[in-house]
Amino acid sequence: MTLDQATIDRLAAAPVAPGRLLIGADRVEGQNAPLEVLSPIDGQVLTTLASASAADVNRAVAAARAAFDDGRWSRQPPAARKAVLTRLADLIDRHAPELAVLGVRDNGTEIAMALKAEPGSAAGTFRYYAEALDKVYGQIAPTPEGVLGLIHREPVGVVAAIVPWNFPLMIGAWKLAPALAAGNSVVLKPAETASLSLLRLAELALEAGLPPGVLNVVTGPGRVTGEALALSMDVDVLVFTGSGPTGRRLLEYAARSNLKRVYLELGGKSPNIVFADAPDLAQAAKVAATAIFRNAGQVCVAGSRLLVEASVHDDFVAAVAEATAAMRLGNPLDLTTQIGAVNSLPQLQGNLRFVAEAQAEGATLALGGARALEGTGGYYMQPTILTGVQPDHRLAQAEVFGPVLAVTPFADEAEALRLANGTDFGLAAGVWTSNLSRAHRMVRGIRAGVVHVNTYGGADNTVPLGGVKQSGNGHDKSLHALDKYTDLKTAWIQL
Ligand code: NAD
Repeated sequence: MTLDQATIDRLAAAPVAPGRLLIGADRVEGQNAPLEVLSPIDGQVLTTLASASAADVNRAVAAARAAFDDGRWSRQPPAARKAVLTRLADLIDRHAPELAVLGVRDNGTEIAMALKAEPGSAAGTFRYYAEALDKVYGQIAPTPEGVLGLIHREPVGVVAAIVPWNFPLMIGAWKLAPALAAGNSVVLKPAETASLSLLRLAELALEAGLPPGVLNVVTGPGRVTGEALALSMDVDVLVFTGSGPTGRRLLEYAARSNLKRVYLELGGKSPNIVFADAPDLAQAAKVAATAIFRNAGQVCVAGSRLLVEASVHDDFVAAVAEATAAMRLGNPLDLTTQIGAVNSLPQLQGNLRFVAEAQAEGATLALGGARALEGTGGYYMQPTILTGVQPDHRLAQAEVFGPVLAVTPFADEAEALRLANGTDFGLAAGVWTSNLSRAHRMVRGIRAGVVHVNTYGGADNTVPLGGVKQSGNGHDKSLHALDKYTDLKTAWIQL
């Protein structure tokens, strides 16, 4: 979708209504004091956001349970569910400019990217699962004669979805679309710094004909609202995208409550590995820059570790620095901006601490390293490149989730693979080589959910996204995601 600057500016000048909870058909205040929503663009108050107490959360879960049990959605014919989800996709498309601008004012992603990655991607995801929902069904088992074994595939019941702030609509749709397509009811908990566009999406879902109670949204702090949801005794499955520390807590909450199934999509420290025989080193350098710096590095699969074969290291790093310097950092609502704002002040401060620590550990600052555009009041950071990062440095091991690239040279393929696998994470990777055999060896050898070859990033709904090791245990996207939202039930029938 294309959008002109005047339309963006007009939408961005509109006041933003306070965010309220959606419980059943009602938009309500939370019992706790509302939160102030600060825009990362200028640090100013954008609006307020309802803060749900544990009692509010329990009401939302009860609404979801009632909707599931009475079958208003779970027992609708597949064709009816498909029609609603398709209408929702159409409404998202129709409201794409409004959704994208609202989301950017809330979370700071550059608008050109947000248009594609947020409403654009979310609409596609709802359409994908709407199309899929009547094509995935049970099986008949090869049982002995005289017995019929049927394997039913059923919705799990009440799904809780807790999502992060970097791509709320895209990641929200990765959870909501398959969960709803399978016939479940959902309670969604967006991040406190990126709730507004998801609240609007939930309104559009009602407009599309989703029965009230099937999708409920509770907003508020993770340690209050999110915790209450994860501790609920009546949530069947909890799906999560966010940080590792929160993921650990969710597993504890599940253990302390009703042993709900928990699927985690967590962070990464993804290696982008450049061999000297890459087909086009200049192109690889440009992509290496966008792989880490788009959305100010706030991308789960960001290529945050650049591993470069020693023979081309210096020239390649210079080319990445040149490509980075050419990227336009600025107001994320400007269509020409390529690097937007950091989501919040604490996040920005954390990013800067990483840079200081890396230098203290002996890494060399090759580019950036400081706050930018401070006069705007917004949260901006220069794209930052550190070279000479040793495998045991914190910057090589811990996720920054900001515009900070760690560069490390390697001598040969074996060392590249050792470095690539030398962290606790396993989300994504990139390999640049013209050697077909090496490309396949690296794809097999790297422990990650996705390995890009001679590109970085990019995917669609047909392929799963998930992590291994401490990057998570579930998959979003593709038909495989439906496994999280369906149970298998056996009927063993004596004939
Ligand atoms: P976060 O873990 O701080 O927050 C994520 C969500 O969890 C928010 O809604 C938050 O309110 C909630 N939360 C926080 N504490 C909670 C608690 N104790 N109980 C219940 N809920 C709680 O993560 P973030 O900073 O919003 O997002 C950034 C992280 O997400 C990064 O680590 C990034 O790599 C990861 N991420 C992963 C993927 C993926 O597909 N694997 C995609 C995007 C982002």
